Amino acid sequence: MPVTENHVLDALRTIRDPERGRDIVGLGMVSGLAVKDGHVVFAIETTRERGPGLEPVRRAAEKAVENLPGVLSVSAVLTAERPAAKPGAAPGPGAGRALVPGVGHIIAVASGKGGVGKSTVAVNLALALHAEGHRVGILDADIYGPSQPRLLGIVGKPQGDGRKLQPMRGHGIVCMSMGFLVAEDTPMIWRGPMVISALNQMLRDVDWGELDVLVVDMPPGTGDAQLTMAQQVPLAGAVIVSTPQDIALIDARKGLAMFRKVDVPILGIVENMSYFLCPHCGGRSEVFSHGGARLEAERLGAEFLGEIPLHMAIRETSDGGRPIVMSQPESPQALAFRAMARRVWDKLAAGQRQAPRIVVG
Ligand code: ADP
Repeated sequence: MPVTENHVLDALRTIRDPERGRDIVGLGMVSGLAVKDGHVVFAIETTRERGPGLEPVRRAAEKAVENLPGVLSVSAVLTAERPAAKPGAAPGPGAGRALVPGVGHIIAVASGKGGVGKSTVAVNLALALHAEGHRVGILDADIYGPSQPRLLGIVGKPQGDGRKLQPMRGHGIVCMSMGFLVAEDTPMIWRGPMVISALNQMLRDVDWGELDVLVVDMPPGTGDAQLTMAQQVPLAGAVIVSTPQDIALIDARKGLAMFRKVDVPILGIVENMSYFLCPHCGGRSEVFSHGGARLEAERLGAEFLGEIPLHMAIRETSDGGRPIVMSQPESPQALAFRAMARRVWDKLAAGQRQAPRIVVG
């Protein structure tokens, strides 16, 4: 018999909040329950102060649901309301969203469609933020086609102690990717709830340590899985990557709309493969009527963060596991990423929308 929301709620009624002495369903602490094909996702709402103390309750709740017949996976997250805000203040990004301990700001790098260089921009932006002196991690949430292990030239399996997984390290930043956990040639057919539960685990069950910025390389597109991710991760903002072609810009617009829908601020738009820089003569050709993203950004009220040329060195260094920002730091392309990183950091630091410092262990 397929498991239903009622089965899950019944199981959760056996879990008590020790402080208040009543069950977590009766106390209204369970939210965002979704059950699909045996995969269960839900949140336990708490306060920031109580967050760390409720970890045993979260685990007990997960266990209780896991034991139900027909349940294939369970992902429970603790979410905290921000502290009482002044009247009229904008809601913080952490409100009602999954918490990540020790991480200052989480930003998404997203694109409306695949192949526009989203992962390339994500890794170079992460390395540029590191070069600017910040502690940086990258979460490869592109579980359909994880590319960060290859881009960073990291091989091996993450070590765990049964509770937390250690992220991998490369070029001064930490990284977690489904690519470390499954063989590269394993075809993965993910359904929505599994995507969300994998992402939640990579966020929550990884010992990220103290980070200033965690860059999330999102799966391309604007489907349900992406929308749920944008909703569940406490994002301080999103960077949209687009190529100059009109078609990609239409997709970029969808990406923008998706983040706005779930109230995540757009940090800006990056035009990748903006123009062609000849590796031989250094000549520049406007192969795709470059500049479309700048115009589109203006039209949409989003900041234009900069343009990255189509250049052999970007592809070659990426394929070689030595992205251009670290391997050719003085190249114009690397400098363009550095400028972008400074701008993104300034926006984060200015608290365009303050990311909460969360202390759930
Ligand atoms: P996405 O994550 O959007 O699918 P990738 O980052 O994997 O895209 O990039 C797709 C391909 O394009 C890769 O081979 C990458 O090396 C190449 N690429 C991305 N940006 C550039 C660029 N600015 N110049 C040259 N090649 C690029």
